[in-house]
Amino acid sequence: MASTHTSSVPPPESTTICVCSAWLYVGIHCVLYALWFGYRTDHFTHQTGTAPALSLTMLCATYGMALVAAVGAPTVWTGGLLLRWHPTPWMRRVLTTVLVLLHAALFLAVFIDTRVYDLLGVHLDSPWIRESLNNEHVAREMQLGSATWQAVSVLASVVILSETILLWVCHRSLRTLQKRSPTTSVRLKHAAMVLATIAFVATAWLRVLPPQGAEGVRDGLLGYESILGPHTFEAQWKQVQYPLKGSVSPTLSVRRPVVFVLVESFRADHLNKDLTPNLWQLTQDASCWQSPRHYSTAHTTELGTFAMLYGLYPYHYKPFSSEQIAPQPLTVLRDSGYTLAGASASQLRGWNQADFMVDPLDHYVEFLQKPAYTGDAKTIDWAKQFVTQHDKSKPYFLFLFLNAPHHNYHYPPEFERFTPAMDADYDHFLGDDKLEKHREAIHNRYRNSLLYVDDRIGDLLQFLDAQPGLKPIVAITGDHGEEFWDHGLLGHGASHFNNERIQVPLVLCTPDATVHPDHQLSSHVDLWPTVFDVLDGPQPSVSPPSTYSDGASLLMPPLDPMVFVGGTTFPYANPLACLIDNDNKIWLRLCGGDAFCVRPTKVTNANDEVILAPTELVNARIQRLETNLQRFVTLTP
Ligand SMILES: [Zn+2]
Repeated sequence: MASTHTSSVPPPESTTICVCSAWLYVGIHCVLYALWFGYRTDHFTHQTGTAPALSLTMLCATYGMALVAAVGAPTVWTGGLLLRWHPTPWMRRVLTTVLVLLHAALFLAVFIDTRVYDLLGVHLDSPWIRESLNNEHVAREMQLGSATWQAVSVLASVVILSETILLWVCHRSLRTLQKRSPTTSVRLKHAAMVLATIAFVATAWLRVLPPQGAEGVRDGLLGYESILGPHTFEAQWKQVQYPLKGSVSPTLSVRRPVVFVLVESFRADHLNKDLTPNLWQLTQDASCWQSPRHYSTAHTTELGTFAMLYGLYPYHYKPFSSEQIAPQPLTVLRDSGYTLAGASASQLRGWNQADFMVDPLDHYVEFLQKPAYTGDAKTIDWAKQFVTQHDKSKPYFLFLFLNAPHHNYHYPPEFERFTPAMDADYDHFLGDDKLEKHREAIHNRYRNSLLYVDDRIGDLLQFLDAQPGLKPIVAITGDHGEEFWDHGLLGHGASHFNNERIQVPLVLCTPDATVHPDHQLSSHVDLWPTVFDVLDGPQPSVSPPSTYSDGASLLMPPLDPMVFVGGTTFPYANPLACLIDNDNKIWLRLCGGDAFCVRPTKVTNANDEVILAPTELVNARIQRLETNLQRFVTLTP
C-alpha cells in the first residue's frame, strides 16, 4: 500500500477501523470510570462535604471520565493524524501499545491510589508520598515487603493483558459491525468521540466551577488539586524575622545538661505500666511531670521534630527550611558554652529538606541500618558514649530520635510479647477491609515496638542517673501519634486531627523546678521556654519566649492556653489545621480567595465528639491564630 503525505487521499480502511476502535475503547473507559467514581463517592468523604449527594456523585463521575479522556482523547487524536501520514502496520502496533500502556498505567495509578487513600487517607501525589518516593531510603521509609511487590507485579500483568483484550474486542466488533451496518459503526465512533470530548472539556469546567461545599470529596479524588490547580489561597512568605529584635545572647546561670528524646509515632494513650514500664516509672519521680494532654504540633516526623528543636509551630517549617534558619534555642545554648549533640535512628538528613534543623548541632549521627530496631540500640549507645567522653568543663544538650515504632513497627524477636503479631512481610495492598481484619495483630506489632523503645529509654535513664554532677533536664515525647483504624484509617499521613494521630505523651523532668499544677494542656512549643525558665537565674537573661517561640513556660501559670496543630505544609499547599484549647478542638480549613483566611469546618470536644461552640469564641481563637501566624514570617498571596 502506497504511503501518502497529503490529507486529500482517504486513509485505508484498516486505519479507519483502527481509529474508530480506539475511540470506542476510550469511550468504554469513560463510562466505566464514571460508574466507578460515582459509585465510590461515599469513600471520598473523609473530610465531610456539605454539597447535596447527587451533585457530589456527578462531580466524582465527571472527574472519573475526565481522567480517562485526558489520557485517551489526545492519544487517539494524535494517533489518528500519525496514521494518516504513516498508515503502516508497525505504526498501528506502536500506537496500539501506547494506548494500552497509558490506560493500564492510569488503571494501576487509580487502583493503587484507591487502596492507599482507603488505608492511609493520602494520595499518591500528596507532598508526603512524593517526598517518600523521591528519597533514596524509600524502601526503608515505606517498609513494603516482597509480598507487596509480588502483588503489584501480578496486578500490572493482569491489567496490561485485560486492556489488550479489551482493545482487540473493540477492534473485532467494529470490523464485524461495519460489514453489517456501516452507519451504526460510524455512529458508535461519533458517540464515543463526543463522550470523550465532553469529558475532556469537563476538566476545564471542574477547574473553573468547582461545586461549592464539595471540598471533602475533592480531597478524595486523585490529582484533583495538582491537575486542576489550587482552589485555596496559595500563601507565599515575603520576609522572615527571627528571632525578633530585642532577643539578646544570654549567659545561662544554671549549667544543667538538657536531654530531649523524641519517639516515633508515640500515642499518648500508650504510656502505661504494661507497655512502657520505664517511662511510667519516670512519671512517678517527684521531679518529673506528665502532661495531662500534650499535643505534637503536626502529624508528620519533620514537623514534630521542628517544633521540638525550635519551639515553633509547623507553619514556619517551609520558610525556615528555605532560608536555612538555625534554631534560636540552640544558639542560646551554644553562646552559653554548651556542646550540642544529636543522634537519630530516623532519617532527617536528606528528608524533606530537614537538614537545616540538625546542621547547627556540633555532633550529629544517624543510624539507618537494617533491621530497623538496631538503630535505636546504636543511638542510645552513642549517647552514652558521648556523655562519657565529652569535655566535662562544658554542659551538653543531647537530642535523640528513636524509630522502632515507625510503621511497620520493629523489635527484636524476644520483645514479641503481645501476640498474635502480624508477620513483618505482609501484603500492604490486601485492601483496607481485608487488612483491617488484622488490626489487632498489626497493633500488637506496634505495642511490641514500644516495649522495645521503652527498654532502650530505661537503659539511658539508668545511665544518666549514675552520672556525677547536675541531673539533666529530660523531655521525652513523640513526634506524632498513630491511628489503627480508630477513625477508619491506618498510620499518621493524612491531615486529620483525631487524638490518636496528634496527641502524644510528654514526660518532663525539671530538677529543682516545678511545673505549675494548673497546666492541663501543653505542646512541643512550650519545651524551650520551660527549659530556659529552669536554666536562667533570678535575673533572666534570655529574652521573653515570644521573641523566639510560639510557646510559654510551663513553670508559669497558664494564660488562656491554646495550641495549634497543622497539616503538612499548611498554609502553603495544605488547607487543613486545628486549634485546641481546654474544652474545644476547632478544625480549620483555608477559606480560598486571594487573602489569608481560615474557617471552622467543625468543633469537637477533647474526646473528638462534635459539639456546638459559641461563634465568638471560635472567631476569637481564629483571630489569635491569624496574628500569631505572622509573628516571625510575613505572608503574602
Ligand atoms: Zn514520625
